[in-house]
Amino acid sequence: MRLILLGPPGAGKGTQAQGLADHFGIVHISTGDMFRAAIKNETALGLQAKAFSDAGTLVPDDVTIGIVRERLGQSDCHEGFLLDGFPRTLVQAEALAEILKELEISLNAAVNVQVDRPLLMARLTGRRVCRQCGATYHIVFNPPPQEDQCGKCGGELYQRKDDNEETCEKRLDVYQRETAPLIEYYARKGILRNIQGDQEIDQVLADILAALQRDLT
Ligand code: ADP
Ligand code: ADP
Ligand code: ZN
Repeated sequence: MRLILLGPPGAGKGTQAQGLADHFGIVHISTGDMFRAAIKNETALGLQAKAFSDAGTLVPDDVTIGIVRERLGQSDCHEGFLLDGFPRTLVQAEALAEILKELEISLNAAVNVQVDRPLLMARLTGRRVCRQCGATYHIVFNPPPQEDQCGKCGGELYQRKDDNEETCEKRLDVYQRETAPLIEYYARKGILRNIQGDQEIDQVLADILAALQRDLT
């Protein structure tokens, strides 16, 4: 199974990606996670990405396409993969099409998780992430069993630097301008699956799996 997860920041892509990767036994590739790891480790990539990530704008296409090209060439992607947060521009989508053509594979589906803007703001500004394992929580909608502590590994929870109100508004604007056109792009290719994202986490996952049934048969 080869999937991409579309949807605005806060739609629940990362949350669903975990369940989907487990279900299909495929790797979860999050460009946002890759950039955050690089920034934390102060690598050359991290130095390039930091200013954009902090400002809530997109890392340049050539940099982003380069890391995805390299990642998709690794052997653990042979069984399938789930791209979370890539592509985010039409240039990235066209580059992905080229990469997949070279690898002689194609996408099964582009899953578009839909959530309205006021709820996205509430989700983003209340998000907390585990420093140790990357698990995602929400202070109101999906609280950890113990305050400030990950229920999976006991790690410390933190708030992402770009999850403040001002940067979130910016990211949602960038999404509208740069990424929303991809919905039409994948609809035209006949692989778009629209999912109602403003439901319980388990229900969203069930709806995605039901929508993908068609692609398995
Ligand atoms: P994205 O990867 O699309 O930016 P996340 O998966 O990180 O989104 O989710 C954003 C926030 O919303 C997190 O705090 C997460 O716990 C919460 N969340 C995700 N899905 C749901 C849902 N179906 N209902 C309520 N809260 C959710
Ligand atoms: P969210 O889904 O909550 O917006 P991500 O973790 O996917 O957050 O992305 C965080 C940041 O990483 C983005 O604001 C952007 O700076 C950078 N980024 C992630 N994916 C891409 C991409 N495909 N193209 C350009 N920049 C990206
Ligand atoms: Zn954890």
